[in-house]
Amino acid sequence: MYDKNNVFFKILQKEIPSNIVYEDEVCLAFHDINPTAKIHVLVITKGCYTNFADFVTKESAENIQKFFQAVARIAERLGISGAGYRILSNTGHDAGQEVQHFHVHIIGGEKL
Ligand code: AMP
Repeated sequence: MYDKNNVFFKILQKEIPSNIVYEDEVCLAFHDINPTAKIHVLVITKGCYTNFADFVTKESAENIQKFFQAVARIAERLGISGAGYRILSNTGHDAGQEVQHFHVHIIGGEKL
């Protein structure tokens, strides 16, 4: 069950500031406040989904494709697609998911 009382929903509403690197009709991307590498960007959906499984189950195929294509485009724009990068999405308690709004981490800019 999605709960709008989470920090990424507030970032989407522009109630909380973020360092935005990309935005389109399906996603918003901004720098992680606590980066684990030189480049650490979060890509969040505009739609309200709690996690990866919720997103791929309920969102349209077209928007799922647009979202993951945007992730690749953002990595390209960040200048890390040639050297390589890691994408990950923490899902649930055992993965340590802190924010219950689906998001993908793009991590790179150095050897991981
Ligand atoms: P997780 O839910 O475990 O996949 O990770 C949530 C991520 O959100 C963490 O890497 C946090 O550093 C990051 N984070 C939390 N609050 C903010 C914020 N206000 N702006 C940017 N990143 C945030």
